[in-house]
Amino acid sequence: MNKIDKRLHFLLGKVKEECTKVKELSDYELKNKTNEFKRRLAEGETTDDLLPEAFAVCCEADYRVLGMFPFDVQILGGIALHLCYLCEMNTGEGKTLTATMPLYLNGLTGKSTILVTANEYLAIRDAEEMGQVYEFLGLSVKAGVTRDTNEHLNNDQKKEIYAADIVYTTHGSLGFDYLLNNLVHSKEDRFMRELYYVIIDEADSVLLDSASMPLVISGSPRVQSNLYGITDFFVTTLVEDEHYIVEDNKVWLTDKGIEYAQRYFRIENLYSKENFDVLRHVVLALRAHYLMDKDVDYVVTDSGEIVLLDKSTGRKMNGMKLRGGSHQAIEEKERLKLSQEQRSVASITYQNLFNLFPKMSGMSGTIADGKDELLEVYHKQVVVIPPNKPMARKDLPDKYFKTSEEQFDAVIKETVKRHNTGQPVLLIASLISDTEMLSKLLVQENIEHSVLNANNAFWEAEIIKEAGQKNVVTVATSMAGRGTDIRLGSGVKELGGLCVLGIGRMNNTRDERQARGRAGRQGEPGVSIFYTSLEDDVCEILGDDFLEKYIEKDKHISKRRIKKLINKSQKIKSESSVFQRKNAVDYDSVMQRQRTIMYKTRNDLLDGKSLDENYLLSICEDNIKDFVKSNKKLDSYAVHRYVLDNLSYRLQEMDESTKNQKDYLIQYSKMAFNTKKKSLGDRFSEYCRLCTLRALDDGWVEEVDYLQQLQAAISGRSSAQRNLLFEYQREARISFEDMEKSIKKAMIRNILLGEVSFGKDNEMIILYP
Ligand code: ADP
Ligand code: MG
Repeated sequence: MNKIDKRLHFLLGKVKEECTKVKELSDYELKNKTNEFKRRLAEGETTDDLLPEAFAVCCEADYRVLGMFPFDVQILGGIALHLCYLCEMNTGEGKTLTATMPLYLNGLTGKSTILVTANEYLAIRDAEEMGQVYEFLGLSVKAGVTRDTNEHLNNDQKKEIYAADIVYTTHGSLGFDYLLNNLVHSKEDRFMRELYYVIIDEADSVLLDSASMPLVISGSPRVQSNLYGITDFFVTTLVEDEHYIVEDNKVWLTDKGIEYAQRYFRIENLYSKENFDVLRHVVLALRAHYLMDKDVDYVVTDSGEIVLLDKSTGRKMNGMKLRGGSHQAIEEKERLKLSQEQRSVASITYQNLFNLFPKMSGMSGTIADGKDELLEVYHKQVVVIPPNKPMARKDLPDKYFKTSEEQFDAVIKETVKRHNTGQPVLLIASLISDTEMLSKLLVQENIEHSVLNANNAFWEAEIIKEAGQKNVVTVATSMAGRGTDIRLGSGVKELGGLCVLGIGRMNNTRDERQARGRAGRQGEPGVSIFYTSLEDDVCEILGDDFLEKYIEKDKHISKRRIKKLINKSQKIKSESSVFQRKNAVDYDSVMQRQRTIMYKTRNDLLDGKSLDENYLLSICEDNIKDFVKSNKKLDSYAVHRYVLDNLSYRLQEMDESTKNQKDYLIQYSKMAFNTKKKSLGDRFSEYCRLCTLRALDDGWVEEVDYLQQLQAAISGRSSAQRNLLFEYQREARISFEDMEKSIKKAMIRNILLGEVSFGKDNEMIILYP
């Protein structure tokens, strides 16, 4: 036993000791423990001190309310979750119940305690079912999502949700709420409490699979660029390998390509600042043409819209748009009407979102496979909790085929064979097109079945729940119904339990284990077989020429060699996703640093931090010095312009006694400042705060938007001689400094030129210049 396991088992012993004592308590006494624990926490005990007793109380409540007493392995898992490990517990082991113990313990602190899961269905199900336990014990619980995903919760509803001791929600909702909470305009509008403890259910899906797509909030429309058309045409004139190179899902211009672009657009240096927009559009067009494939990455709907496809599930991602103009570049390529580009107002990646919690833990049936990456990116250790009963599922060896025709043929034969005995069969494919193919073949065999590839977690859960009943055949994508409990119907155990047939190698081994895990829960019988072929999606990296030789030209190839090739492809594929995720982390860490500074400044202002007048005047002076320095020819026209644009709408004659323009402007600004101060009296400091907040938000929105574009543009530079990340960091630093300057200018401009009126509740209404 290693050190961690020893500690977990030691604590398990303590919990069990307490369990025997707690059993004797009446319901009333049991509930009262919550008050006692809260008091003891207030008196200085820690959650670690309380763990044995609080866990025991929760176990007993689980039993009295739900009729389930946590197994020892579940208590072990609960302890590991409290200690902030990532727990691997097999599907069906009861992770939902496991989470009740650490959630109760941490909920006692009165700090924000949250369980995040993969979809709305699971969040609502668990909040409702487990909620009874917390309520019995006197803690409040809420689901952070609604059944209807189009329904928007208002501020007051969100306040109520996040005020609950324990919240069950999805990673998407939590992320957007976090961003929105940092966009509010007054402290009364804030609805989130300081983040404290989180358990992430289906943690590999959330922390790894969702990690390369950041959350973005879009705001006001951007002025439409006219560069899409011309750059789109330009890239179609390029020759592969001569002008541009495609490799590893990246594309960039060669030196020759760069020269050509400079001639084409009649510019001197494609990479200089003033040509940023041209470069950005060229990169977008290159990607649209050479990395994005119609019907693989996106589809064009009948109404002429681009809808992205989720590569891992093949699902249409309705409403999802690529950022930074990528969407418009694809529209241009497909000759569609360009949709309105939106600015990004706020953005965060999941890595950074979860790193905001001082205490973070996670659980999943398949997380150990990602343990190195999780350690590196999240600094989290994975603990594997043994199953309650030994696993009885038979995972038969993979079957290898040369072509998908043979592969599908074999799958259907196996399905028919098993279906004839009454055994339930669950067919799992990674691509949506494969589920459709399977369905067609099943119809030919006259086998009734359900297909799950819609985008509705509630509906899917209802169907997949039934997948363990006698005679039932279900076809699903690998993500469909994750986390849903599949119970075996009566008589199914005798037939060998649920049979899972996997079609095609998946992008990583986690997805495959997840698929197998649908069968054989809690020591029940079950069987899984995977059918793979050289035409599986993962094999595309072997190259068309290579595959053609074996498939179309029908060259002989041994099973052993097929196996080797498929394994190798999968390995490359999953390594490349790991690389992409790490890259996303590196890029976001730049924004993360900036975001931290901005949110802190913002929060201080919201909380009423007043701005020192001398500080404001010194900023004013700095602005003027900057202006004077950057304008070599300072005639009276320029000076007057500056006054009108920044200091006052009314121009006064230059005072004879001031020696130079700089002093004149400084004096002028002091005068304007004092006039404003006098006119607002005791509301002046509030006014300054609002004006500053506004300047801060305007500046930050620009910066977020720029960083997104910069990232898109930079990744299109040749990676051969340049360190892209380094360049990104340098440019991001420069733009941050520029932003600071422009915020300082806007602050003063807002303060001196803002027009104030008062509403009926005497609230301040400011018309900004
Ligand atoms: P997981 O999330 O680990 O896949 P679930 O939390 O969905 O598993 O639980 C699977 C099933 O096991 C559920 O039907 C649940 O009611 C049952 N279960 C979990 N823990 C216990 C327990 N201690 N005693 C009895 N049944 C349990
Ligand atoms: Mg679960």
